[in-house]
Amino acid sequence: MVTLIRKTAELVSARAPETSPVGFVPTMGNLHAGHISLLERALREFDTVYFSIFVNPKQFGPNEDFTRYPRTLENDLALIEASGAKFQGKRIIVYSPESSEVYPEGQGQTVEVLGVTTDLEGALRPGHFAGVATVVHRLFELVRPTVAYFGLKDYQQYLVIRQMVADLCLPVKIIGMPIVREPSGLALSSRNQYLSAEERQQGLVLSQTLRKIVDLIRTKRDLREAKALSAEALRDPRWNYLEIRDAETLSTDTRRSKNLTVLGVFQLGTTRLLDNMQVELP
Ligand code: AMP
Repeated sequence: MVTLIRKTAELVSARAPETSPVGFVPTMGNLHAGHISLLERALREFDTVYFSIFVNPKQFGPNEDFTRYPRTLENDLALIEASGAKFQGKRIIVYSPESSEVYPEGQGQTVEVLGVTTDLEGALRPGHFAGVATVVHRLFELVRPTVAYFGLKDYQQYLVIRQMVADLCLPVKIIGMPIVREPSGLALSSRNQYLSAEERQQGLVLSQTLRKIVDLIRTKRDLREAKALSAEALRDPRWNYLEIRDAETLSTDTRRSKNLTVLGVFQLGTTRLLDNMQVELP
C-alpha cells in the first residue's frame, strides 16, 4: 500500500505513534531503476518504508539546474506502486513536500560536515554538501529511520552522510547500494535526459575509463600504469576530475589504503556526469 503525504504535519503524525523500525530512501524524484533498487532493498528489510521525493533547493548552486530539474511525481508514484505490488502487505509512505514544508520560516539550522566535504564535488560546488547534509538531517529528524539507503553513485555524498551520522551520533544505519548502470555502462541518473544522443555516446568515456583504471589496478597490483592512464585521459578538457583515492577517507595518500575509489566527472555541455568504481587492493 502506497500513501502520499505532502505536509510535514501529516508525516509527523503518521510516524509519531510508531516505535517500530522503518527503512528510508531519500531522493529528488524522477525515478529510475537506481532509485528503485534502493526502495526494493528497503522493502525486503522493513514492513514500512518511507520514501521522500524532494528537489532540495539548498543543494543547488546559483547557476545550477534547480528550476529545470525534472519533476515527474505521477510517473514516480506509478513506479513506486509497481514495486510495492511485488511486496504484498508492506507499507510505503511517500513524502513529497513543498520547500516551505521542509524549511518552515525561521528554520535556519544548517548542518555542515567537515573533512570529506572539502575536495572534489565540495570544491567544485561550494555549499552543495551543506545543502545535502542539512536536508538529510532534517528528513532523518522527521522520519527517524532505523536504516537509510543511499546509492554509491554519489560516493562522496555517501561518505558525507556517514560522517554526519558518526559526528552527530544519529541513531540510524547507513547502507550504500551498488550503482545501477545501462548495458552500455552509463550509470543511471536523472540528469542523463539532458544529453543528446551524441552526448550520450560521448559520455561512455566516463565508465569505460574508470573500468580500465580499475582493471589496471587489479592486474598490475600497483598504481603506476593506472595513474599514467588517468593523466593521459585528463588531456581531454571535458573531465572535471578523474582521481584515484582512498575509499574511506578520499585521501590522495593511498599508501596504506585497503580499498580505493576511482572517481570521475565528465562534463558534456552543462551536464556533469558523475561516476565512480571501487577496487580492493591486492
Ligand atoms: P537523487 O534523486 O539523484 O538525489 O538520488 C537519490 C538516491 O538514489 C541517492 O542515494 C543516489 O545515490 C541514488 N542513486 C542515483 N542514481 C543511482 C544509480 N544509478 N544506482 C544506484 N543508486 C543511485
